[in-house]
Parts: sequence; C-alpha cells; structure tokens
Amino acid sequence: MTASRIPTTAEELRGVGLRVTAARVALLETVRAGDHLGVEAIASGVRDRVGHVSLQAVYEALHALTAAGLVRRIEPAGSPARFEGRIGDNHHHVVCRSCGVVADVDCAVGEAPCLTASNDQGFAIDEAEVVYWGLCPGCSTAKSS
Ligand SMILES: [Zn+2]
Ligand SMILES: [Zn+2]
Repeated sequence: MTASRIPTTAEELRGVGLRVTAARVALLETVRAGDHLGVEAIASGVRDRVGHVSLQAVYEALHALTAAGLVRRIEPAGSPARFEGRIGDNHHHVVCRSCGVVADVDCAVGEAPCLTASNDQGFAIDEAEVVYWGLCPGCSTAKSS
C-alpha cells in the first residue's frame, strides 16, 4: 500500500482531464495562495511565476479550471468576478460595500442548509448563493472616527 500524499497541482489538473501547462499550474497556485483575487491580480501572480502570459490566456485558463471544478468563481453584484480555490463546501461570502473586500463565511447552520429551499419549484438544486453585504472592520472604523 502506497502512503497517501497530497497530489501535485499538475496531477490535479490531469485528474480532471485538463492538459497540464505551466500557465495553468501557476494560475491554480496563484488562486489558492490568494484571497478571492480578481482577474488582474491573478494575471500578475501568474506572470510572477512563469513570465508573460496574455490576459486572454488567463481568462481561458480560468474558464477551464472553473468548468473543471478546481476553481470557484464568485461575482458579487456590481463588482468584477473573483476566483478562489476553496471549493465544494457551498460557503458564502461577505462583501464590504465600501472597499469591496471579500471574506469567507461558513454556512450558517451545519452542512449546506441553504440547499434545502422552502419550495424547489421542481428544480434539482445543487448550489445556493448567499452574499452578505456590509462594511469591513477597516471601513467601519474609518467611518466612525
Ligand atoms: Zn472595506
Ligand atoms: Zn470564498
């Protein structure tokens, strides 16, 4: 029996049927190391790791990784899309109305209760999107002082 080990990023890409490229590996690492990064921040993180990559290539890689379920895309109303590596747990987000910072919020009660809609209208629901809005600690302190 082989000892279990954490798969490399390249192995994870292969595991979901994606071709492994340096840009995709760098992108997944950038998204995971970051905190709800936008496309521009991801592009600069990828370039730090592997040199010049076009914005178009970054968009394409993000699309492929999101479709494969390795990356989650969140898009709070009125703000550009952001991406994160924390996937599969249906967690929610709290967004600051003032500076736009995004933080994770675990599901309110136990395991994904929001998937149990009061009336599912016959749909097979697999995701619930909840966005809390407010002011982050930094912005609320700035306002009150
Ligand atoms: Zn703020
Ligand atoms: Zn998150």
